[in-house]
Amino acid sequence: MKSAEIRQKFLQFFESKGHTIVPSSSLVPGNDPTLLFTNSGMVQFKDVFTGKETRPYKRATSSQRCLRAGGKHNDLENVGYTARHHTFFEMLGNFSFGDYFKHEAIKNAWELLTQTYQLPAEKLWVTVYQEDDEAYDIWNKEVGVPAERIIRIGDNKGARYASDNFWQMADTGPCGPCSEIFYDHGPDVWGGPPGSPDEDGDRYIEIWNLVFMQFDRDAAGVMHPLPHPCVDTGMGLERVSAVLQHAHSNYEIDLFQHLIKAAARETGVTDLAHNSLKVIADHIRACSFMIVDGVIPGNEGRGYVLRRIIRRALRHGYQLGQAKPFFHKLVADLVKEMGEAYPELVQHQDRVTQVLKQEEERFQETLEKGMKILDAELDSTAKGGALSGETAFTLYDTFGFPFDLTADICRERGYEVDEAGYEEAMNRQREMARASGKFKMAQGLSYSGEQTRFEGYERLQTNAKVLAVYVDG
Ligand code: ATP
Ligand code: MG
Ligand code: MG
Ligand code: MG
Repeated sequence: MKSAEIRQKFLQFFESKGHTIVPSSSLVPGNDPTLLFTNSGMVQFKDVFTGKETRPYKRATSSQRCLRAGGKHNDLENVGYTARHHTFFEMLGNFSFGDYFKHEAIKNAWELLTQTYQLPAEKLWVTVYQEDDEAYDIWNKEVGVPAERIIRIGDNKGARYASDNFWQMADTGPCGPCSEIFYDHGPDVWGGPPGSPDEDGDRYIEIWNLVFMQFDRDAAGVMHPLPHPCVDTGMGLERVSAVLQHAHSNYEIDLFQHLIKAAARETGVTDLAHNSLKVIADHIRACSFMIVDGVIPGNEGRGYVLRRIIRRALRHGYQLGQAKPFFHKLVADLVKEMGEAYPELVQHQDRVTQVLKQEEERFQETLEKGMKILDAELDSTAKGGALSGETAFTLYDTFGFPFDLTADICRERGYEVDEAGYEEAMNRQREMARASGKFKMAQGLSYSGEQTRFEGYERLQTNAKVLAVYVDG
């Protein structure tokens, strides 16, 4: 089953159960200034869950474009390292706004997976929140999942990817237990069941999260039962596609294979299993959709996230031997894969291509020079040692290497980076700018100063330049 068909079947299934199909919203949340990017299907319905907004339906289903590359959910550092994490992905979801609750949510999920998608029941494992006997009993007694494959999980804050089966929107407000569905990819893949010490592996892969919004937590931390509990679910399209296409890794699914081939074509690589191709395929999706949704590369906030992802993709291209702009040429391939499901991508194709091309040209020269410096520096550093903070700062300041880009290259090659030394070098530079008077000029501008450490200086420079022009002119 192709991923386009899997998406379609999901939406039709829930439509047949009385859900209204709602189009994906933008990656830039319209209703929440505190959130950098839309990171799940429920984001566009936030106010519906809290009752601030009402809609003409009580059941909805969607395929939501999501980005987890900054803020609360950040999977950027997982891309290229796990089989299941992307920066950009699609989340299939069904939602109940005070309508059905646990019974229907669980039974529908099971029906879709085992009947519509025909997945073998014995490969599916489920987790429930440790105190949620209600969900446990539905899975066990009503659906018939044997006790050996139902795992109770608490507010686990331990391992890196540790399951955490209690969901909350914020410190106060709607919250409640979750129940997650995992697929067992078999003993050939390393990893243990959810909740076990080896759960970081890729054998048992989480495919679907069912959230039961059941309480309203007040400022004192007391949980009051909601009069009309809600349901919010999310299933990664790429993950369920991998399962249905008998692939272990998300990157083996049809959509990714086409993008990987396109990346190989543009970089002249013959080894299709090369990790850098996966990263490029991931990043072209993220970057294109960010631009579709109005983000442009810049030195702060969302624009800086975009710039960082583009530059990461370009250095992977460089690593494959492609030092010329190539990334923007993948937009056409992406449109072929996803244009039908996302007409806005087709509509903005030319603009997306142009923006990427410009950013590539901008970075091309300094990328090559910076890489040479970095290579030489790492060659003279003992394996397992750390790149000096001074070099990381020079790469940032003179060659436009965001800190995370340098850190990622080092990680890949088995080195650390002296982050404290980098900060120090950054502060020294700032002091010098201040002493030379530029800082004061820039500060006089209406700029909040609330920048993250990587953004502050570049922005300061820009402001100083703008002001200088203004004063001179
Ligand atoms: P994981 O534990 O694997 O990191 P998660 O618990 O962070 O996933 P949720 O927040 O529960 O994920 O999101 C719901 C679903 O979205 C997941 O069950 C998964 O199928 C999918 N998903 C989450 N993060 C990603 C990602 N980075 N790339 C692709 N799919 C994802
Ligand atoms: Mg996660
Ligand atoms: Mg998880
Ligand atoms: Mg989860």
